[in-house]
Amino acid sequence: MSDARTMAAAAAANGVDTIAFTEHAQHLSEVRDTIAYLVSRWTLEGQPLARQAYLDAISDARGVAPIEVRVGLELDARPLHDDYERALEQVVDPSAPAWDVIVGSVHVLSDDSGIEETRIVDEPTGVWRDYAELQVAAAASGRYDVLAHPVRLGFSVPGQPPNLSKMLDEITRAAVRHGVAVEVNGNDMSVRPDLVAALIASIAREGAWASLGSDAHVPATAGAALRAVPFLRRHGLDCAAIFRRRGLELVPLPSRAD
Ligand SMILES: [Zn+2]
Repeated sequence: MSDARTMAAAAAANGVDTIAFTEHAQHLSEVRDTIAYLVSRWTLEGQPLARQAYLDAISDARGVAPIEVRVGLELDARPLHDDYERALEQVVDPSAPAWDVIVGSVHVLSDDSGIEETRIVDEPTGVWRDYAELQVAAAASGRYDVLAHPVRLGFSVPGQPPNLSKMLDEITRAAVRHGVAVEVNGNDMSVRPDLVAALIASIAREGAWASLGSDAHVPATAGAALRAVPFLRRHGLDCAAIFRRRGLELVPLPSRAD
């Protein structure tokens, strides 16, 4: 993660009025000390950070700009691995008062291959089916406030499966049933706008909550999710979910978004 003060200032300059920092949990030293899988599976961006140092860095970013600054975590959701999920839950203690929002991300398929890793598929339906089922299970787990980037598999799988809308509806319906918001991700908007458009249509059909996530790893993209606002409006959506101390609040979509 870039310097939190710089990120908060950039977000404000880009038209954001509430930002939640959601560092990947494996950047926290406490998580690294406990869960070997995460250490071996992912390469770190920068140095690991003790949990308190992370919280302090975000506190320090409050006041650099006239926006709300909130703090959360993005957890790797692996719903087929109960021991892993329990261990992660224990170490990050998502019910601790510090966290405003917990984001759940399915980053690997059932065979542990990464959703963004180059893959050769004869037809996309099977891998999308696996991805969709894992996301439905993640939404049903009750661990997360937001389901992250549900169409990210499209980075590694070209085209669209023929039953895309139906699979997306299964995900958004599960999100509704379990009170989880669905992320509309700025990075996905850039790479697979076709899939994000299909996701937004599904969010609208199923009456899910949309959460705007910029996926900003650098200040330039803080606020990138605002580009989705016109698409949301086109589907009759006029608010987005934000979180404070893990409680959901629906706020109107920003009017100045282009
Ligand atoms: Zn992610």
